[in-house]
Amino acid sequence: MSPHVLILGGTTEARRLAADLAARPGVRVTTSLAGRVARPGALAGEVRTGGFGGPEGLAGWLRAHRVDVLVDATHPFAETITANAARAAAAASVPAIVLRRPGWRPGPGDDWTRVRSLAAAAETLPRLGRRVFLSTGRLGLPAFAHLTDLHFVVRSVDPPEPPLPPDTEVVLARGPFTLADETELLRAHRIDVLVTKDSGGEATAAKLTAARERGLPVVVVRRPELPAGVTAVPDVAGVLERLGFGPA
Ligand code: NAP
Repeated sequence: MSPHVLILGGTTEARRLAADLAARPGVRVTTSLAGRVARPGALAGEVRTGGFGGPEGLAGWLRAHRVDVLVDATHPFAETITANAARAAAAASVPAIVLRRPGWRPGPGDDWTRVRSLAAAAETLPRLGRRVFLSTGRLGLPAFAHLTDLHFVVRSVDPPEPPLPPDTEVVLARGPFTLADETELLRAHRIDVLVTKDSGGEATAAKLTAARERGLPVVVVRRPELPAGVTAVPDVAGVLERLGFGPA
């Protein structure tokens, strides 16, 4: 019988894993998306969209669709679904693997302030500069809405919804962005400070290099902890190994 792998997606790694698994004969792969992005790119295998209705709903889905392995390949800041996935897998007795790309580390020349939350980032900002490239994802913007004296540049695939800081300039664009793209954005908007979550990975790292090269401070929001007892593998190869598959 072909194993059914459910990937909780929304990341580049989830997309790569789906492509790898879908190309293997006899493997059924379904990717689950939250439905936050209006036009997500094409995905290999089957796709389902929308919340499950909490951990109980996800456990029910695992049973109903005879899922053999659950891979939580969600974003490091998608804290609720990761907690739900751990609970649902345990409840449905389905083995689970968590895929988490490693966080970023500062290198020589980086001027980073690490903070625990978006709220702490907002508190830190006024002393670091007035023109801010806010690269925290459009759903994180309400945490900065009270900062009326700062100018924000926000980049996002879909237009952000209020509440937003009053002086916000929205740049609609879909990554990946090269170092040249990021350097130009910082230059053109005369950015003083960058705010980012510690998402990790190559796809969105160029902004950090661009900030370093321009000598700009960066506020880095730390990741939430994984649920107690959960350990993660850092990449797609690690998941394939745990699934008992060699390289494709
Ligand atoms: P979250 O706060 O952890 O989850 C909130 C709720 O959204 C969950 O309880 C679940 O609803 C639903 N959900 C989340 N991910 C889902 C998935 N892959 N499939 C089905 N339902 C899902 O999640 P989030 O931070 O809003 O992230 C949502 C999605 O965007 C995830 O797929 C994540 O990988 C992706 N993403 C997030 C970020 C980020 O910075 N947070 C960045 C890039 C991509 P129910 O309880 O009803 O099941």
